[in-house]
Amino acid sequence: EAMDNAPSAIRAWSEGMRAERRARSALLSEVEAALAKGQIQPWYQPQLCTSTGEISGVEALVRWMHPQQGIVPPARFLDALHDSGRLDQLSEAVLHHSLTALRNWDAEGLHIPRVSINLSDVELRNPRLVDRLKWDLDRFGFPASRLGIEVLETVIAESSVGIIARNISDLARLGCRIDLDDFGTGHTSIGALRKVTVHRLKIDRSFVTRIDRSEDQRRMLAAVLGLADRLGLETVAEGVESSGEHALLAQLGCDHAQGFGIARPMPAPQLAEWAREHALHIAEAQKLGRGNR
Ligand code: C2E
Ligand code: MG
Ligand code: MG
Ligand code: MG
Repeated sequence: EAMDNAPSAIRAWSEGMRAERRARSALLSEVEAALAKGQIQPWYQPQLCTSTGEISGVEALVRWMHPQQGIVPPARFLDALHDSGRLDQLSEAVLHHSLTALRNWDAEGLHIPRVSINLSDVELRNPRLVDRLKWDLDRFGFPASRLGIEVLETVIAESSVGIIARNISDLARLGCRIDLDDFGTGHTSIGALRKVTVHRLKIDRSFVTRIDRSEDQRRMLAAVLGLADRLGLETVAEGVESSGEHALLAQLGCDHAQGFGIARPMPAPQLAEWAREHALHIAEAQKLGRGNR
């Protein structure tokens, strides 16, 4: 082999590359088998309206229930699916699970207005995406307004024209609510925001953390909220970890909040349990509020 003459450092490097490639393809086939067996399913994290405290929606966040390793977070397997172009299978599973969960919550009399799923650039490039989603919504008998789509800011930053922008606009026209995810971490120009239909800015956790302790951080967030307001976009803060942060978000005029400080992502039945208790808390608080007046 030609490599036999190469310096040993290069030989070691190419050996490492080969090992990495083997590990990646092993992971990929394991993920695909897990998908087929239904071991990969979303958990759900609630989002609250900051003014009423009511649940405004839930976000579907995928988890791999690994028989040996336990719960595997998406960071460990999304890249493998992404790079092989197999994300469509994942999003199909996530969508079905989400619509089934929504149907069950409705049947239990819970008020969960909407479930949001995360779509990557791979799915957003699929010319059949909108038809597929519409077909599934129809099959479940849901209006598109019950489904939210989260798109990373970096995805629209790189593609303000073309198929991705067209798919997003078609989904918006269908009635899906479009959230720009991790806003503030990409480089969206205001021009790109005008070309792609977006309803809400989902403000990245890095702008939300410690707003109750840092004046600089607070000013930064206020600026982002001001921008959203001028553009006529709603806002949701992600990564709300403390009650101090939550309270300040309401004061600063952020519309919705999501984070470990409110609730962690959880399986669909637990989310139902949580929503029921949360509704009782709100009713209780409203009664107290009236009593004080
Ligand atoms: P994301 O869409 O920005 O989701 C928010 C992430 O932050 C989730 O991590 C969530 O568990 C975590 N999080 C929520 N509240 C807090 C908090 O208060 N503090 C901290 N430190 N973290 C919080 P997760 O579930 O590990 O997901 C990571 C990313 O993976 C997601 O980021 C999303 O981009 C991607 N992802 C998840 N599910 C899917 C999916 O079904 N399809 C695609 N394409 N991507 C997905
Ligand atoms: Mg998201
Ligand atoms: Mg984020
Ligand atoms: Mg996010």
